[in-house]
Amino acid sequence: MGGKSRDRIYGDRLRAARIRLIAAKEKARDADSGIWAAECELWSAQMEGYGGPAQPSPTIEQALCAGYRFLEVKCNRCNHQGAVDLTRIRRHAKTEIWRLEPSLSCEECRKKHRWKARVHMIKLSREPESGIPWYAPGETDGH
Ligand SMILES: [Zn+2]
Repeated sequence: MGGKSRDRIYGDRLRAARIRLIAAKEKARDADSGIWAAECELWSAQMEGYGGPAQPSPTIEQALCAGYRFLEVKCNRCNHQGAVDLTRIRRHAKTEIWRLEPSLSCEECRKKHRWKARVHMIKLSREPESGIPWYAPGETDGH
């Protein structure tokens, strides 16, 4: 009746099941990030090649999980292209990428002319192609 015989009967089974559960969870996480990476790729190809549709789009969390840290945007007025660092945007992780566009504006135009020029989204990227990370007013760290 002691714990010892119970452990002899069920202990191994329990330990093996725990190990299988951990492995299965890891596998599921890998599969998820694979799916998200494919979603980011699809969305980016759609946006860059055809200008949309922007919806539905991955969320900030999904993009980051898949290694897509930057959202490339282009100014509607001066055509300056910049990358928004998604890790520095103060939004909920479950926010869909397309919802960010209305709150972003061109830093170049703001500096030069104090204009709040609208931008449009180009694609998600792992490394910013255009160099300087671009923060929208109000989205920058510390302000
Ligand atoms: Zn501009």
